[in-house]
Amino acid sequence: MARKGLVIVHTGPGKGKTTAALGLALRAVGQGMRVAMVQFIKGSWKYGELKAPEFLPGFEIQPMGRGFVNLGAPTPDPEDVALARETLDAARGKVLSGRYDLVILDEINYAVDYGLVPVEEVLRLIRDKPDPVHLVLTGRNARPEVVEVADLVTEMREVKHPFRAGIKAQKGIEF
Ligand code: ATP
Ligand code: MG
Repeated sequence: MARKGLVIVHTGPGKGKTTAALGLALRAVGQGMRVAMVQFIKGSWKYGELKAPEFLPGFEIQPMGRGFVNLGAPTPDPEDVALARETLDAARGKVLSGRYDLVILDEINYAVDYGLVPVEEVLRLIRDKPDPVHLVLTGRNARPEVVEVADLVTEMREVKHPFRAGIKAQKGIEF
């Protein structure tokens, strides 16, 4: 069966974008594939998935150097822009390396939306991607240009979220 590397986008305001990408990683590893996840914007929580490589051979995860981005600020901090640049370069290296069958760029859509990463760079990475590599881009507010070139786009819609009922983030579900 000929392999066609897909460009997959998980976007929208509902929960499940990153966890759906992790589900794909689990499935791909089960097929003997090598998977890398690069995280563009990391929250302050200790995400359970950071431990996954200990249990999942073939899965690598690279969180962005600095633990927290102040998303409330009106303009991005130059230090965060520089880090996003480094993260993008690392992501590009992994996509082009030929070492991975599936590369997940977690929160890259949000990094573009927030002005940390130029959308042109994302489009260039998609264009330069080796044909067999599957690429997953997660994060809210995916740009229409990215949606346009993708093969598979899923928009998560919020129907209910416990946050609205004042229930705090649960270990193993949100982080
Ligand atoms: P997850 O990592 O759980 O799959 P996500 O990737 O879809 O979530 P993000 O936009 O990355 O969501 O948001 C990260 C955090 O915000 C997660 O802890 C998630 O549970 C929470 N979150 C996602 N959607 C909502 C929502 N509609 N209301 C409140 N919190 C949310
Ligand atoms: Mg996410």
